[in-house]
Amino acid sequence: MTHIFIEISYLLASLLFIYGLRCMTHPDSARRGMKMAELGMLIAIVGTLLHHEIISYQWIAAGIIIGSIIGGTMSYWVPMTALPQRAALSLAFGALAASLVGIAEHHSHHEHFDAFKMIVVGFEVLLGSLTTTGSLIAAGKLQDLLPGTPLTFKGQKMVNLSLLVVMLLLLVRLVLDPSQTWALALMVVLAWTFGVMLVLPIGSADMPVVMALLNSYAGLAASATGFAISNNVLIIAGTLDGFSGFILSVAMCKAMNRSMGNVLFGAFGSASQSSAAAEGGVMREVHIEDVAMQMAYARQVVFVPGYGMATAQAQHVVRELADVLEERGVTVKFAIHPVAGRMPGHMNVLLAEANVPYSQLYELEQINSDFPNTDVSVVIGANDVVNPDARDNPQSPIAGMPILEVDRSKNVVVLKRGKGKGFSGIENPLFFKPNTGMLYGDAKDSLSKLVHGVKDA
Ligand code: NAP
Repeated sequence: MTHIFIEISYLLASLLFIYGLRCMTHPDSARRGMKMAELGMLIAIVGTLLHHEIISYQWIAAGIIIGSIIGGTMSYWVPMTALPQRAALSLAFGALAASLVGIAEHHSHHEHFDAFKMIVVGFEVLLGSLTTTGSLIAAGKLQDLLPGTPLTFKGQKMVNLSLLVVMLLLLVRLVLDPSQTWALALMVVLAWTFGVMLVLPIGSADMPVVMALLNSYAGLAASATGFAISNNVLIIAGTLDGFSGFILSVAMCKAMNRSMGNVLFGAFGSASQSSAAAEGGVMREVHIEDVAMQMAYARQVVFVPGYGMATAQAQHVVRELADVLEERGVTVKFAIHPVAGRMPGHMNVLLAEANVPYSQLYELEQINSDFPNTDVSVVIGANDVVNPDARDNPQSPIAGMPILEVDRSKNVVVLKRGKGKGFSGIENPLFFKPNTGMLYGDAKDSLSKLVHGVKDA
């Protein structure tokens, strides 16, 4: 009877995960999707706790208490801008758990392992271990504890390939004789090393793509765990995680017009290259009063948020400015680039937090044709995603990346603190165009002043 209840709870949980993922394809339903997935996880946990194989609940209770304290503290303490490194840490913990389950399974039952069981446990331990160290390095780079630039050395790819081959040979050895514990131990150490070597040559700018990929490895490790311990919900959830992580990394590469190979092995960001178009140009500085006047009497204003809006935490004040402008009859739109910020959906999350209506959010394909009708485009801490070199200069490192074509607006105002470059480390000719004005200062501070300026205009 309990067995049937457990299986029903797993089926329900799996359906909720799939429905949750479906809802996350649109900002309108994304929150509901998260809630459904959380409910699914709760049901799966309750179902698992009913398992007759559980001998003692004390360790589980201790784990739940310690985990909840760490998770709860992190969710309060970690700022929104540090979410990517927080996600990397969670990934490392999840992957470590998967590899430990595999090691424990091997330790307790290897004498009953057939070839299939040894293969899934082997992959679980291998993927889990490399994802653990890879995610820790990613977190370290994103938190600036490690250099964000790609760390490379001669023959690196050869070393990585050799590590991979040796790990696979060890797995074959284990399949032939699962009692060779030394082979599993060596495989774990090599997989840890491989995880480090895999992520070190990747610049912190490409870290979100790498994390989506590591996420996919962690998902596949969890799925292998499901096979190893005959747990259906782990198989389904792990597979969903594995493939959605992979699809996400491919989607991010597409949005940056880069191949996966270029992201993983291209050492992007190791050299800063400047655009010929920008050399020798002059940036025109503008002031709050002029910009406020321009916006107050515009017919249409388009806000283009980027990473700087996230660091400045300016999402609430931009919403306030949008409201003030709308009260004056100005049409307000927000242009969202798929890779603006540092993680997928970064701008959507921030603007949703500030309750900006979804009807005001426009994707790249929807808004680009509207820029020529826009009186003022306000770029809030965005740089690469509005760089016209991606469109006009085939020599640019970001050539071909789809951009928000703000340079085609009647007027452009760029809010940034100084002459800082974007994620790709290259110059932006937009800042030197005659229709562009630079409003220097922290984005939140400048936007607050603009709210007052527009009210007084
Ligand atoms: P960006 O190119 O990194 O530029 C951010 C700009 O914000 C900088 O030029 C900086 O200039 C300014 N800034 C920083 N703090 C600020 C503050 N407090 N107030 C005002 N301005 C501030 O950002 P983006 O245009 O959003 O482009 C995202 C980049 O990340 C792209 O290259 C994309 O390919 C990459 N990327 C994104 C993802 C993703 O999932 N979203 C994944 C991988 C890679 P100052 O220093 O002068 O202020």
